[in-house]
Amino acid sequence: MLINYPQRAYETFKRLSPISEFNDIYRFLQNILSKISSPIERARKTHQYVDLYTNESLSNPAAKKFITCHKGCSACCHTQVSVNSDEAALLANKVIHEGHEVDLKKLYIQGNVENSGSGWFELPYEMRGCVFLDEGGGCSIYEDRPSVCRTNNAFSPPVQCETKDGIEKPVRLLNTEKADFAVIAGFRASGEAGTLPHMLWKALGEQSKPRVVTPSKKVVKKAYLKRIKKDLSKIFEV
Ligand code: SF4
Repeated sequence: MLINYPQRAYETFKRLSPISEFNDIYRFLQNILSKISSPIERARKTHQYVDLYTNESLSNPAAKKFITCHKGCSACCHTQVSVNSDEAALLANKVIHEGHEVDLKKLYIQGNVENSGSGWFELPYEMRGCVFLDEGGGCSIYEDRPSVCRTNNAFSPPVQCETKDGIEKPVRLLNTEKADFAVIAGFRASGEAGTLPHMLWKALGEQSKPRVVTPSKKVVKKAYLKRIKKDLSKIFEV
């Protein structure tokens, strides 16, 4: 099955795999993740290690001083984000079972682009914003955001991350080598990957199938589930 690894993490992985310290991290994580059968739990465990290693990188005083990312800057949330199928399941669970509202029409349009980079930039800028971006430019699912969103910390001026003109510019990012290995371990453990809208759309379809839904669970918000299924079926008829 095709795996669309996040580019930067994969480059780190290819470059540093021969070094035993990194190889050991990868094997350690692979071993942990292979024992978890639930995709949602596997995504959460991956995020735990991505955060652990990213925080190690962030603890460098120079990192704190020179990182230009700040609350309300949502430039990178208008680009294509890679997620794996475990992360997509986690996000779909938030939408369907926890009632987190997203703009389904926008998600449908973004998801139709599938994994095409050029197709993405054919969408108007306002249509390129992540469906989890809130009105204040923050992430509405911060605790469950994908691995890639966790490791992105820029040193370059925010304007470099802007893609309003449809052009991706060079961005200097914090070195997160160990976290990149955790990202790749998570992607390899999951089995499938692609862009967030494409993968989330697929996962929503999976999780809204009647056989997957467990109405007896108290956490299921029945009214919202009913509405979302109605919305999905309307969109599928388009
Ligand atoms: S999941 Fe959150 S951090 Fe990641 S692109 Fe979407 S809004 Fe931004």
